[in-house]
Amino acid sequence: MRHRIAVVGSGPAGLAFARVLHRHDYPVAVLERDPAPDARPPGGTLDLHEGLGQLALDKAGLLAEFRALSRPEGQAMRILDPDGTVLRDWRPRSDDRANPEIDRGQLRDLLLGPLDVRWGRGVTQVVPGTRDGVLVHFADGRQETFDLVVGADGAWSRIRPAVSSVTPHYTGVTSVETSLDDVDTRHPDLARLIGDGSVAVYGVNRAIVAQRNSGGHVKVYAQFRAPLDWHTNLDLADVEAVRSSLLALFDGWAAPVLDLLRHGTAFVHRPLYVLPVSHTWTHVSGVTLLGDAAHLMPPLGAGANLAMLEGAELAESIATGPGDLDEAVRAFEEQMWARAGRWAKITMAGLERLVSPDPAEALALFDQVQPS
Ligand SMILES: Cc1cc2nc3c(=O)[nH]c(=O)nc-3n(C[C@H](O)[C@H](O)[C@H](O)COP(=O)(O)OP(=O)(O)OC[C@H]3O[C@@H](n4cnc5c(N)ncnc54)[C@H](O)[C@@H]3O)c2cc1C
Repeated sequence: MRHRIAVVGSGPAGLAFARVLHRHDYPVAVLERDPAPDARPPGGTLDLHEGLGQLALDKAGLLAEFRALSRPEGQAMRILDPDGTVLRDWRPRSDDRANPEIDRGQLRDLLLGPLDVRWGRGVTQVVPGTRDGVLVHFADGRQETFDLVVGADGAWSRIRPAVSSVTPHYTGVTSVETSLDDVDTRHPDLARLIGDGSVAVYGVNRAIVAQRNSGGHVKVYAQFRAPLDWHTNLDLADVEAVRSSLLALFDGWAAPVLDLLRHGTAFVHRPLYVLPVSHTWTHVSGVTLLGDAAHLMPPLGAGANLAMLEGAELAESIATGPGDLDEAVRAFEEQMWARAGRWAKITMAGLERLVSPDPAEALALFDQVQPS
């Protein structure tokens, strides 16, 4: 028996879910608010872990294609003191496939493949328990019913209120993101500083991280502890004003590190929000959540990985299970909550140590998690 299933959102969670269902010839409606796949810049590089994101790609039959696209050398990590001293310079072995990097745009296109996404279909609300199933309201006024609606619509989910009244809260850490293009040609010194992967510099309550994406593109993240309204006297649309404000915040740091900010092209303001560490809800028949919608956590390399594995696992149990949809969703939720709860604790503790009054904490964390 085929149930009427919709997934809201075509991020890593929604696409992994839909792609695994598609592999099992199980129909699914993918409802996405963006008008087209390239309507927004896709964001920075992602490292996909062997037992998480890569496992999801395996379930989707896409692991070989991922290996051909991904950058194992991108796992390299250099850590500097604010004065520019190199504290750690870790490079992966040539056969290390534990956490290779992939551009988000490449991952999206890989997962999209043959999927027929309904673009420009923003969902405003879902109402479970109607006579014909779960009623989905769209921003354009249309309505449609399904047997199961999966909310994979990210941090500010419009599906979450159907199961939980919880909303994300600010962590006290803000990230301002900028980028550099053609770094090898235009900024060879910075290209050497960043190497094949990432460079991170940790100071008191602040950090600068630069990550290489493919094609000589680099994303730079300036992270600092600040109240949510730190920018009251700053026009965030004024690139030079934001640049000056960041340069003042990181005053005294080594010139090559500050050059990452001096050469940045535009600045995107991202206060870091999270959901409570063990966010669960009383099961609601016909609605569930995946990925950031279920467990938004600090961006420390887990969110997309969990989102994809959850999507793949739920899809597999729906497509290959005994057919009781509600039972499959209930069992999945228990499994998701347990695993996401563990990662939420790890990433919250990680954020505390990486943007910390004591920068030695960041180095100690790196030494704990990095293979020698
Ligand atoms: C700077 C940064 C770096 C990160 N680095 C990593 C990393 O290296 N590794 C890692 O694992 N994670 C990383 N993360 C976390 C990761 O990006 C997220 O956890 C992941 O994208 C969550 O996927 P998702 O599919 O749940 O949600 P999203 O990626 O947010 O996708 C949600 C989708 O839903 C759509 N949508 C939203 N609202 C609606 C609506 N009302 N109707 C229809 N569609 C809607 C959106 O347009 C979007 O396409 C990072 C995050 C940040 C901010």
